[in-house]
Amino acid sequence: MSRHRSGALGMQAGDRVRHKIDGRIGTACEFLQDGDAYVRWDDGRAPTTVKWNALEPHVKRHPRVIIEALVTLVGLTLPKHRYIDEDTWYSCPKAPEGCADESQGNKCNCGVDEKRRRIRKTFVELGLDPDEIL
Ligand SMILES: [Zn+2]
Repeated sequence: MSRHRSGALGMQAGDRVRHKIDGRIGTACEFLQDGDAYVRWDDGRAPTTVKWNALEPHVKRHPRVIIEALVTLVGLTLPKHRYIDEDTWYSCPKAPEGCADESQGNKCNCGVDEKRRRIRKTFVELGLDPDEIL
């Protein structure tokens, strides 16, 4: 297989891909400028051309024991909103005790909501339901 430098939506030739609609798994051979991708499917059928946006990166599923260890690790290290006991003026508004500076509103200003969003996204990419875990 030739490995081209072309790419699309974060995927590039040579990547393992999954067809979003029918779930087929294959290897992207080429991403063409017009939005088509040429894919060789694992099921042995002839390679076909599909639209880039019908594809997503295929994430290899990991053994259950590794997933469970990751879940434990994330649970132990789940970030908490910044809370400054000595002066809550500097606490995040989403900390349980809140922020003394009302001008901060009620949105996270410490970066934890973004980190939690990324953790949730990672679980989804692993094929897990973050609501069951977090
Ligand atoms: Zn926060």
